[in-house]
Amino acid sequence: MSIQSNLEHINRTLPNHVTLVAVSKTKPEESILEAYNGGQRIFGENKIQEMARKWEALPKDIEWHMIGHVQRNKVKYMAEFVSLIHGVDSFKLLREINKQAQKHNRTIPCLLQVHIAEEETKFGLDEKELNQLIGSKEFRDLTHVEIVGLMGMATFTKDQTQIKKEFRYLKHIFDKIKDTLPHISVLSMGMSGDYQLAVEEGSTMVRIGSSIFGARDYSHI
Ligand SMILES: *Cc1c(COP(=O)(O)O)cnc(C)c1O
Repeated sequence: MSIQSNLEHINRTLPNHVTLVAVSKTKPEESILEAYNGGQRIFGENKIQEMARKWEALPKDIEWHMIGHVQRNKVKYMAEFVSLIHGVDSFKLLREINKQAQKHNRTIPCLLQVHIAEEETKFGLDEKELNQLIGSKEFRDLTHVEIVGLMGMATFTKDQTQIKKEFRYLKHIFDKIKDTLPHISVLSMGMSGDYQLAVEEGSTMVRIGSSIFGARDYSHI
């Protein structure tokens, strides 16, 4: 199957209100261009410098999403161009994004990452930390970041009931924090293996890599 036919297939199965982020991490520019020529404009990367290199080389109407864990000292490499940062999980990180966005005279849209999986290793805020963050005065004082929604990753398991439960929990938190952040609209959940379930549970943005570009090969890195 070609990249373009994979894309067509996925787009056919996604409802109109769900945005597709094509996750191109580790993939070469030619593969991204193939997707681009098939109409895809939103791409997701998980390494800031890799994303910056691709941004420089590829068409400027691509929207680049940072979907991975963000190190504060690297925010400066993407502040000029990044369209959405999915994995914001601390106030300190948000403050750094705010500072770098200000230097470029822009506002950077961000998602707060919520920890919903059973694994210890997945990053994110728990519900209490999330509420503390969005309820703080320091947060309200940030002028160059905009929280537009939430992001979460389910446990890596075949247990559909477990995954469903975690997505449902994230949707529940999303609905609840609208009391504090009434304008949020993005719920980023779902990857190649679980995006259909995520869409059923209220996802508005799916991050799909291997089902579009094929399995990732890390052996040469
Ligand atoms: C790699 C990655 C994806 C895409 O994973 P696939 O299983 O290849 O679709 C989605 N979200 C995040 C945060 C990722 O790091």
